[in-house]
Amino acid sequence: MPPMDDDQLRQYLEFYQDLGIKTVYRRGAAAAPAPAPEPQVAEPRMVRPVAAKLEPPTAELPMAAASGESLFQIQQDIGDCRRCRLCAGRHKIVFGVGNEHSPLVFVGEGPGADEDAQGIPFVGKAGQLLTQMIEGTARKEGIVLKREDVYICNVVKCRPPDNRTPEPDEMEICGQFLYRQLMAIQPKAICVLGGTAAKAITGYKEGVTKMRGKWFKWRDIPVMVTYHPSFLLRGYNQAAKREAWEDLKKILHFVYD
Ligand code: URA
Repeated sequence: MPPMDDDQLRQYLEFYQDLGIKTVYRRGAAAAPAPAPEPQVAEPRMVRPVAAKLEPPTAELPMAAASGESLFQIQQDIGDCRRCRLCAGRHKIVFGVGNEHSPLVFVGEGPGADEDAQGIPFVGKAGQLLTQMIEGTARKEGIVLKREDVYICNVVKCRPPDNRTPEPDEMEICGQFLYRQLMAIQPKAICVLGGTAAKAITGYKEGVTKMRGKWFKWRDIPVMVTYHPSFLLRGYNQAAKREAWEDLKKILHFVYD
């Protein structure tokens, strides 16, 4: 990335601060080997509300300025990441997969065992369900769409031990890369899967059952929250499956109509 002027740097830091991120890391000199970066604490400021509930978006919304970074550059910057404790147990960093120019991005919580082994998000049972949901719902709605047409990633890029929920500091550190991915892709909408990712992206603390099916906003980008496919895999969740299908229909029509 070209060097930022003061104003760009302020906007950049405010943008993370809006998301509740208080610590950012400075990249080392380009040619230097990658030592563990020194934490930099952003100046404390008033944190503005991070998300606004939206009416279903009907018009084209203005987009946040594109970062100009490519996903490849962001992935290079992640490198063999040692920025948080999750690196200790991971096999592969799970950066993201799909179309870099997709108008739709799905964001999950963090990799599970299958994803950790393959380095690809949502390839286990939950991932197979997500693929069926995307492709099946699109087909029924007359939208031509395959999994590889969208972009899929997670808040944290390394598998938490025993699939535990990522800790706030892990999400804060790794969330920086998610936010850079979203700024690079500039999707028309984001579909957030499950309560943990929903809290990370919207800043709202409510449970997923309250948030699902509603529009939120991340920067200027509309966000739809729905259930995590792992939750839908539990047998007794027929009603939730129907709701997730409704949520997906909404976001697919918004993005692709
Ligand atoms: N669950 C997630 O949140 N992400 C994955 O990649 C797989 C399962």
